[in-house]
Amino acid sequence: MLVIRGLDKTYANGVHALHDVNLDIPRGMFGLLGPNGAGKSSLMRTLATLQSADRGSASLEGSNGETIDVLRDKDTVRRQLGYLPQDFGVYPKVSAEDLLEHFAVLKGLTARKPRREVVDGLLQQVNLWEARKRKLGTYSGGMRQRFGIAQALLGNPRLVIVDEPTAGLDPEERNRFLNLLAEIGENVAVILSTHIVEDVTDLCPTMAIMNKGQVLLTGRPNDAIDALSQQVWRKQVPKAALPDYEARYTVLSTRLVGGHPVIHVFASAKPEAGFELVAPDLEDVYFQRLRLQARHAAQAHA
Ligand code: ADP
Repeated sequence: MLVIRGLDKTYANGVHALHDVNLDIPRGMFGLLGPNGAGKSSLMRTLATLQSADRGSASLEGSNGETIDVLRDKDTVRRQLGYLPQDFGVYPKVSAEDLLEHFAVLKGLTARKPRREVVDGLLQQVNLWEARKRKLGTYSGGMRQRFGIAQALLGNPRLVIVDEPTAGLDPEERNRFLNLLAEIGENVAVILSTHIVEDVTDLCPTMAIMNKGQVLLTGRPNDAIDALSQQVWRKQVPKAALPDYEARYTVLSTRLVGGHPVIHVFASAKPEAGFELVAPDLEDVYFQRLRLQARHAAQAHA
């Protein structure tokens, strides 16, 4: 439904933020996972028509089955797009209801009665109906993000882009927010950009891992996890020995369990005595891809 080919972007300061990005994004939740600086926002902003790419294409299937050239038909895209930016600011002294009305007018909903119906429906959908008269400055982080989703859904978008929406939410707010996204994702394509692995594990049927402007993996999380089976090993090691293990093996992660480091190592056979096989998860996949990319970069430099 959204097809991205050969997207490339270098900023004026020389940062190569998007490096030949190719992605097929179907309907439903699509997780775009990567560390800070990976290029996620650059990609999201390009798709949201807020900045241009140097090369490449992106085409979106519109509501009438027509193909929209995302990089050129900007006005058409904007009508079919909902966007929740990373730094979504709200006017703290305005109520949710009034601000959503205002956004609705900007989206072209000029007739009062249908606009009220849309605004009321959205406030109910994101569970802010009871709080609709409250000033946005009194909202919690989770409530503000849910308000952000309501404004993104104005005008029945085909594509919804949410950039790092769960950063700073507590676990309960995060759950509530992700459930809301999952409901939306039943009908449209939702791109969820995040550096939090669990956001993707919990709710994205398809995903991509990105770093340093490159797509390192794309597909279904479970397929990527299955591909690592029998290759992730765990061992509890003394803290002082960590650098040694990191030098000898591909250490994917280190976690403190009861104050002692437990490492996950990627290896096709048992690395040494004391290691035990573990069932890999998406975090192992994520770190394995990042390590592989770092190794290739080091080899290219050597
Ligand atoms: P992410 O969203 O994954 O954190 P970004 O797309 O924000 O990644 O950033 C990718 C890289 O591009 C980073 O190195 C960042 O510093 C750089 N960058 C982002 N926006 C700009 C800009 N407007 N001008 C110059 N460099 C930028």
